[in-house]
Amino acid sequence: MDCIFCKIVDGSIPSNKVYEDDSVLAFTDLSPQAPVHVLIIPKQHITSANDITSENSAVIAHIFEVAAVLARQLGIDRDGYRIVNNCGDKAGQSVKHMHFHMLGGRDFTWPPG
Ligand code: AMP
Repeated sequence: MDCIFCKIVDGSIPSNKVYEDDSVLAFTDLSPQAPVHVLIIPKQHITSANDITSENSAVIAHIFEVAAVLARQLGIDRDGYRIVNNCGDKAGQSVKHMHFHMLGGRDFTWPPG
């Protein structure tokens, strides 16, 4: 499958990994939108949030466990941070392998653009 995040998972595209286990990988975003900008992805290819099912949802729960650990490691847990999932074209999902942006280190506005 021609998926850049699957290639990051298999190592054929390099990344700056900040966390890895059997089912989850986190790496810094190539185009950071905040002082801390990490992408947390399931290693298995799930195209978007539309494709979460009872069969694969355990990895989503695990991603949020990893996010809590990473927030502490990255020093953003106390000040706060934002976790974002863009689903589909209208939300601006450019990579069709579901991922969560973890953004921190600055103030964020609401509503998002
Ligand atoms: P989204 O627009 O929500 O699909 O987010 C995709 C994100 O992937 C963007 O923030 C890109 O900067 C990031 N990205 C694309 N290619 C790479 C890469 N090879 N390594 C790290 N981040 C990437």
